[in-house]
Amino acid sequence: MQLESMYQDIILDHYRNPHGRGLREPFEAEVHHVNPTCGDEVTLRVHLENDAAGDPIVSDVSYEGMGCSISQASVSAMYDLVIGKTVPQALEAGEHFMTLMQAKGDMSVAEKLEDELEDAVAFAGVSKYPARIKCALMSWMALKDASARALSVAQPATPTGGHTA
Ligand code: ZN
Repeated sequence: MQLESMYQDIILDHYRNPHGRGLREPFEAEVHHVNPTCGDEVTLRVHLENDAAGDPIVSDVSYEGMGCSISQASVSAMYDLVIGKTVPQALEAGEHFMTLMQAKGDMSVAEKLEDELEDAVAFAGVSKYPARIKCALMSWMALKDASARALSVAQPATPTGGHTA
């Protein structure tokens, strides 16, 4: 199928020429995630900066990793997608990716999410293979984890611990 072979090319391209790879400073949080079933690993750093409105923006995601092409290409595609987004927008992209991974190969789900997921939509075919879904999701789990930690560093809890509504 033509669409699927195009998707394969996108994944291979990210695997061969990963975007944003390398560990950089500054960063607020670093996490290490593994996918033991396949042997994939990623070390991922998140750097947040507040925009003019005071909302934290994902200004850098830097990473090193090893493992299968799906796991490593997924980090690269995620990098392109989340840089410059607010943390909630980046996490929302992660939710869309999760929806894609639950599509069981239904390409109509991929079509609906094309705009939201950009290159990450190319992983649609992975959803047919339950054993590979974790490979594709590892980077997104790491991002979610690192973002939560980065936010807690960037916005330390107030002494009273209360929220001002
Ligand atoms: Zn893998």
